[in-house]
Formats: sequence, C-alpha cells, structure tokens
Amino acid sequence: MSSFWMRCASVASAMIVGSSMAVAQTAPITLSVDLTDAPRKILHATEVMPVTAGPLTVVYPKWIPGEHGPTGPIENMAGLFIPGTGQPVKWERDKVDMFAYHVTVPQGVTKLEMKIDFLASAALSGFSAGGSTSENLALLSWNTLLVYPADTNASDVMFTPSITLPSGWKFGTALDKDGGSGQTTAFKTVSLEQLVDSPVLAGRYFREIPLAPEITPKHYLDMAADGPEEIELSKEHIAEFDRLVRETGALYKSRHYGAYHFLVTLSNEVAHFGLEHHQSSDDRVTATTFTDDREFVLDGLLLPHEFTHSWNGKYRRPAGLATSNYQKPMEGDLLWVYEGLTEYLGDVLAARCGIWTPEQYKQRLSTIAAEYDNRPGRTWRDIQDTATAAQILYAAGGGWDNWRLNVDYYDEGELIWLDVDTTIRKMTDGKRSLNDFVAKFHGLGGDTGPKVAPYTFEDVVGGLNGVVANDWAAFLRSRLNSNAYQAPLGGLENGGYKLTYSDKPNAWSAMADAQSGTFNFWYSLGLHAGKSGTVSDVLKGGVADKGGFGPGMKIVAVNGRAYSPDVLKAAVHDAKDSGPAVELIVENTGFYKVIRLDYHGGERYPQLERVSSVPDRLDDILKPEAK
Ligand SMILES: [Zn+2]
Repeated sequence: MSSFWMRCASVASAMIVGSSMAVAQTAPITLSVDLTDAPRKILHATEVMPVTAGPLTVVYPKWIPGEHGPTGPIENMAGLFIPGTGQPVKWERDKVDMFAYHVTVPQGVTKLEMKIDFLASAALSGFSAGGSTSENLALLSWNTLLVYPADTNASDVMFTPSITLPSGWKFGTALDKDGGSGQTTAFKTVSLEQLVDSPVLAGRYFREIPLAPEITPKHYLDMAADGPEEIELSKEHIAEFDRLVRETGALYKSRHYGAYHFLVTLSNEVAHFGLEHHQSSDDRVTATTFTDDREFVLDGLLLPHEFTHSWNGKYRRPAGLATSNYQKPMEGDLLWVYEGLTEYLGDVLAARCGIWTPEQYKQRLSTIAAEYDNRPGRTWRDIQDTATAAQILYAAGGGWDNWRLNVDYYDEGELIWLDVDTTIRKMTDGKRSLNDFVAKFHGLGGDTGPKVAPYTFEDVVGGLNGVVANDWAAFLRSRLNSNAYQAPLGGLENGGYKLTYSDKPNAWSAMADAQSGTFNFWYSLGLHAGKSGTVSDVLKGGVADKGGFGPGMKIVAVNGRAYSPDVLKAAVHDAKDSGPAVELIVENTGFYKVIRLDYHGGERYPQLERVSSVPDRLDDILKPEAK
C-alpha cells in the first residue's frame, strides 16, 4: 500500500503449498457480480457454493492483503439471502466472530445459492473499503461481495467469476476472459487468492495503453475517469511509464506475473490510495493527476511504488503476512522491508524512469530526512514498533502525530535502505549495490507466475551477506530499535550529501505546500498552519509547543495584523536574531488568547547540501539502468 497508504516463519507459501486443513473442493464456486447499480452505490452478487448437507460456516474476508489490518468492510455488506430450494435457509452470525455466518444445509442440497449486496456508500477515505464508485466508473474489489467456507485455504478454494457492467462501460483486470455476451463477461476459474488479488476497474471513460510493448509479459496502463479529458495524458508521460517497465526489468531481472495492469482511477469521487496486487495495482488519484504537471510530479511515486510491490510484498512476502486465508491475523513486524524497501526502490525507479528529475528526488529526500530527524516520538517508541503495530496505525491521524508516530516504517524505512545501499557501494568501492541484493532476493526462482515466497529477518540478513559480508543483523537492529530523536542519516552521508536548512523552501516543498494548502513552519516555530490559520500539528518540544500551542488551534492575528501565511512568514523573518518576538492571537474552541513566541532563528526549510569529499553515490543510484 502506499502513502499512508499498505508476517513470519516457514518457507511454506500460501499460493505454493496447501495446508492440511483444507477440504478438497469438488467444483468451483460461481460468483456473478452485477455492477449496473454501481452509480447508485449498491453492488449485487449471486454466489453458488457446492455444499453437502449439515452444518456449514461461511466467512467474509476480514484481513485484506496489502492493507495490513482487519479492514474487510463487513459493516457495508447487506442483503444476505440464502433462497434454498423450496424454503429459505436461515443464517446466524457467530456471537464472537462478526465475519462468520453459520447455516445448516438441508438434506439433498448440493449447491447453495447466496445473494449478497455491498453498499458502496463509504466516505472518500480509507482504502479499498472507501468510496469506489461514481456515475461513470467503479472499482470492484471481489472480497467485498463474497463469502467462502471457513477454515479453508484461499489458494485451494476455486471461484468462477463474472461481471455485468452498465451499458457502454469497458473494463481492465488481470483476470483472463472466458466468454460472455452483451454487458456480461465471464472469467476463467481462479483460486480465491487470485480472485481477491485481481480487482476490476470499469468505466464509461476508459482507456488502455500497452506499455513497453517489446517486453513479455505484457503491461497495460488501464485508466477510468469521470470525464474523457482526464485520460488524455501526454506522450511524454506515457514514455515515462514505458521506461518504468523497462527499469524494473533491469532492476529485478525477473517478473512474477502473466501480465501486469496498472488500474488507475482518475476521479475526485473515490478514496485516494494505492493497493498492490501480484498482477495489477489499484491506483486511485485525483481527476487531474495525469494532466496537471504539479500533481503528476507530487504523485509520481504511486505507480513505481505499487508496481514494486509485485516483487517486494507480493512475490517475496514476510512470512507473517503470508497467511493462508483472510481470517487469520497478520503480523506486521517486517513491514519495514515490505513497505520501507518498496518506498526506497519506488522512489529510485521514479527518478530512473524520468517521472522525477534527480533534483526532484533529492528535494523530496530532504523533506523526509528532515521530518524524521525531528521525531520526538522515537524516544519512547522505536520504528520496529510502528511496524509491529501497523494494524492499529493506518487509521490513526490528527495532531501530535510526531509524538505518537505513525506508519514510520515507510519513510524511515526508506532512509534505512538508502543507508544499506550506500554502505554496500562504499564497502565494495562501487562494484556492488542493493541492485545485486534485489536481483537475487526478488528474482528467486527466475520468472514465475504469481506466487508467494515468504521470508524471515534472517533471510534478509543472509541475502545482504551474499552481496557483501557485514554484520547486517546488528546494522539493521541498531536502526530499527533506536530511541534517538534524530533519524538514521548515514545514507545521506555515504551518498555524498548532508541535511542542512535554508531560509527558502526548495521547489519540491513549495509545490507540496501549494498543493496541500498547508504552510511549513515546522523547523522554525514547530507548527504547520493552513491558509486560514488552523494549526494542523505542533512539534512536541518545539517553540510553539513550549509557547502553549496545540493542534486544532487557529491563528487569528500576527503582531496585531490579520493572519495569512505570508504575514506569519514575514514576522518570523523580522524576528530573526535581535528582532521582536512573534505575538499571535489564537482561538481555541471558542476562546481567545495571546501567545508570544520568543524565536529568533528565522525561516528554516530543509535541503540537501553536497559534500564534495564523498563520491556522489546518490547520483549513481539514480542513473537509468535499462539499456
Ligand atoms: Zn506500499
């Protein structure tokens, strides 16, 4: 998963190896999904399950792969009817497990028909359970519209799916077609695991572009939008995605899918995030992301990140995340590999394929380095704990984030992997790099279909030692278990740079602030403030914290003048050195007060400064590898 947005022991794999608890299934379950009411935010399914007479428990998927938590949207499942033959079969929910339904299959019944609706009425937040439809498009996550027999392996339960679309809609998916007529399309029988892994993007304004067509397996950019103009991206951007496909070949030297589909929803009517799959990714962005230069750059990480997950997260997966079905709890302790390494490689690929210039990559890196170099929460909670606690952190938000911490294993994980990469390059005098680790670790077994090869911490350490001998276990643990206030910035130092502060924001920061409407006083006053003066967060231990600020307060006036971001910037500027303290009138839940900030350090924004005594390894890392 990306951007706030997406495990343990044996080498047995969910997709590779079945477990003994599975009961051999005689015939596939058929699942017919009707999306014709998707614009009205209600989806319908008819499921026909082969059964034998007697007690049966069916379950609704709870732990959704890539979401790292029990996020199956059971609250929006509705209309569960089991018509039966002659008279309806009554179901009863388990009193403890809200995702389990008990039924008694009548004598003589060999197929149980079930009707299931899904209410696509969720808010535009969250992940795949969030808003997924509009008047003109729908993203179908099959797990929202099915149940499966309890205590079975997702790789053993077979489904024959089909969809019916509104008139005039087209679709993209990693599933293989198997006939159909009119607006209905049948797909080939797949395992439940592959079905849940293969969402369908459908819409009235739909476009499919083959990418890097000389490469097999094939790659497609599938787009659906609310208007025809939003899928008209430039030839230059298409060429960048072509190069992304080529660069992954040069990096991973293997592919683990039959074909790959980027399923990109360009709409302001859906939740925005990315969710990875083996053979596709569910990438949801604003309507103008592919046609607005600023948005394209700021969201440039999304496709490289989700695509990288096909190798790192889907094929190679922490053993604790490689569960055999969707009811078993996941263990997130290795998410600093699953997400942290993906964040690192995704960013590097975005630069190698030209979505970002090397300068944009470095500017973005400076913002990450600075944020995590000022992280008071790390003094009570190490980054390892943020991974272990992932399942309760994705929904966390609001103020004092820097004290609670959040899914820090993404961006701080990126800093750690940059440290690993530059350390390998330094130790081997540039002869080896993290590319060598990736080619072996993620290329295990060469080209394969979509399957899972689980790993442990020891496997990661062993893989790194295969590139260059080092005490990698201690290297990683010292960073993962650190309670330092400052970030691990060895990757910058070995890369030939250092984090410094300037009185002007770099171009990346300026773009990000303009996009979000939030202004960065984090490294000066220790707060973020919006256009209207609302303080979205306060740095614990910073100047504003000590002055009495809290998140949610609103700055009304600065030195007697009505607040605007520029007025506050000017006041910080004027206070520098021996200037006057900044005096603010602040509103908090209907009450007003004056807060005086005796700060004289001037404006401070992060940047990377070149250290000429160290080779520019960062530049080497960002060079394209594909021929
Ligand atoms: Zn991710």
